[in-house]
Amino acid sequence: MLNAYNGKTDIVFWFFSENEISYDYRDARQQRNIVIEQFAGQGWRTAELLEKVQQADLSYFDKFCQIRMPSWTKGRVALVGAAGYCASPAAGMGASLAMSGAAAVAEALATHDGDFEAAFQAYNHTLRPFIGEIQANALTMLSDYFVPKTEEAIRIRNIQGIPF
Ligand SMILES: Cc1cc2nc3c(=O)[nH]c(=O)nc-3n(C[C@H](O)[C@H](O)[C@H](O)COP(=O)(O)OP(=O)(O)OC[C@H]3O[C@@H](n4cnc5c(N)ncnc54)[C@H](O)[C@@H]3O)c2cc1C
Repeated sequence: MLNAYNGKTDIVFWFFSENEISYDYRDARQQRNIVIEQFAGQGWRTAELLEKVQQADLSYFDKFCQIRMPSWTKGRVALVGAAGYCASPAAGMGASLAMSGAAAVAEALATHDGDFEAAFQAYNHTLRPFIGEIQANALTMLSDYFVPKTEEAIRIRNIQGIPF
């Protein structure tokens, strides 16, 4: 995928793997090689784009994953944002979730006049439906838009674009 913001184009490659891929998360060269091996020999502008990947001094390689916890609080500690409920880059909402979470904790503490146990209970309860919805949407986004499984689904995705 070519993704343009403010006149600068990013190159994005996604792929689906049935198995965990073992890699060194500090070794950017190894990560770039995994992408290059995965896409070598594909059509379109892939060869040209992979050359750019090889030269890139900044790249990001990770698996899509989510954090799901039965409770975001323990004792006097509350998690907000990615630590508690990362929805993955497929959500396109990570910064918003972090800010919404921080605001929800602050609001609950204010409402419960500093009674942190009641406030944390409210935080766990009120924000959870919103987080659940965003995480579920991210999974749909991933399967339908990022790594569609059929040629037809890819064709439709390419016509519709990615909705964020
Ligand atoms: C490549 C990429 C693109 C993204 N694009 C978008 C986007 O377009 N829109 C969007 O909304 N979101 C995007 N996100 C997601 C977004 O960046 C995160 O969801 C957001 O930063 C989460 O905020 P956070 O404060 O919860 O966690 P973080 O931003 O991860 O902050 C956690 C902080 O804790 C620090 N830390 C960790 N361990 C310790 C420790 N033991 N002691 C002290 N400090 C520690 C870390 O260094 C870090 O500074 C993107 C993420 C990535 C990786």
